[in-house]
Amino acid sequence: MTQYTFAIIGGGIVGLSTAMAVGQRYPDARILVLEKESGWAHHQTGRNSGVIHSGLYYQPGSLKARLCRNGNRSMVAFCQQYGIDYELCGKVIVATDPAELPQLDRLYERGLQNGVKLDRLSGDAIRDIEPYVNCIAGLRVHSAGIVNYKQVCQTYVDIIQRQGGNLCLNTTVQNLVQASNGYTIETNQGTFSTQFLINCAGLHSDRIARMGQADPTAKIIPIRGEYYELKPEKRYLVRHLIYPLPDPTMPVLGVHFTRMIDGTIHAGPNAVLSLKREGYRKTDIDLRDMTEVLTYSGFWKMVAAYPTTAIQELIRSFSKAAFVRSLQRLIPDVQANDLIPSPAGVRAQAVKPDGHFVEDFLLIRTAHAMHVCNAPSPAATASIEIGKAIVAELSSLVNDRAVETLRSG
Ligand SMILES: Cc1cc2nc3c(=O)[nH]c(=O)nc-3n(C[C@H](O)[C@H](O)[C@H](O)COP(=O)(O)OP(=O)(O)OC[C@H]3O[C@@H](n4cnc5c(N)ncnc54)[C@H](O)[C@@H]3O)c2cc1C
Repeated sequence: MTQYTFAIIGGGIVGLSTAMAVGQRYPDARILVLEKESGWAHHQTGRNSGVIHSGLYYQPGSLKARLCRNGNRSMVAFCQQYGIDYELCGKVIVATDPAELPQLDRLYERGLQNGVKLDRLSGDAIRDIEPYVNCIAGLRVHSAGIVNYKQVCQTYVDIIQRQGGNLCLNTTVQNLVQASNGYTIETNQGTFSTQFLINCAGLHSDRIARMGQADPTAKIIPIRGEYYELKPEKRYLVRHLIYPLPDPTMPVLGVHFTRMIDGTIHAGPNAVLSLKREGYRKTDIDLRDMTEVLTYSGFWKMVAAYPTTAIQELIRSFSKAAFVRSLQRLIPDVQANDLIPSPAGVRAQAVKPDGHFVEDFLLIRTAHAMHVCNAPSPAATASIEIGKAIVAELSSLVNDRAVETLRSG
């Protein structure tokens, strides 16, 4: 059995960026990446809106604010260096009702505190940028952009391969056995041994953490985000990225219009409970996943805290007319027959036992492991910086315990 220095569970953007960062920091280390699917970026990473976020929304000083703002720059630099298509097209966030203006001002101030370049503009000035938008005032965020994160991941994979990492697809981690000097990882493809384990399993990260004897406290609640796509003849309605003002108490941004890097325009996502962790259709149900959610008191406390939102989102999921009404708040000209259904994504949102969302990225370190237990949006944007932050967190452990082995290994 080969002894690895670092084993990373999960071949989404966080696992791959972490493997790349570990390989850059420890070129002599033996690195293993384990992914259960037959391709990379199969789940959250390959089913997102493709936005390079600016770092505007987040609590100043939080990991999300810092890693997203810096991650935005690193992502752009990475795309330039490796010839990946991207565009810093900017985005607008619009107030459609006078009652929203105080929230618009608060968001503007927050953006400035987070060091994001943005302007507060009149409705007419916003319409110079997005002619079909309904808005009385808005923000223009210069550093927001678009990219295909699957393409970014393929480049991470190429780099990890050049660094000598061992990348294993179709390999499901089934159990972890802790030893004094690391972990034995039991998978459907055999057993691996590692000194350090890094859990980047996204929708399954809480389960993997518990397998590794860590306690994430929170539980992952899978929240499906459904999308429509504008028919090609209606793409002229959206030039860049158009967002509503977000509800500051919710971890989602509200249905928005996104121009993807391939030129298609997506509308969504909403946010409804998925009865399967990787359930992309309304009919997808997994008994274990469903039972875990429905017997979790944190879930019911969350529903009790946001009853109106939960009901509105559910209605929007089953009624195209309700979905279209939300979109018409932003662009009144959009009609139901302009929209065709598009593949959904499922967010891994950690929810605490008291029903509150874990708002920030959550990294839990133990003696031989690092567990990424909450990495929702903007983790794709921030992926390069998350990888570096994990390496920095691990460095004291690695220096103390493993350098000798790394050099001799
Ligand atoms: C609808 C939606 C829209 C979003 N839009 C944006 C956006 O525009 N911009 C942005 O920055 N972020 C966005 N995000 C967030 C972003 O996509 C995620 O934060 C990011 O992809 C998380 O990456 P990850 O690697 O942690 O998770 P994932 O991509 O889900 O990867 C986890 C991997 O772990 C694997 N795995 C799980 N269990 C095991 C096991 N037992 N053994 C082996 N492998 C395992 C899975 O198969 C999976 O491939 C969006 C997310 C969603 C869902």
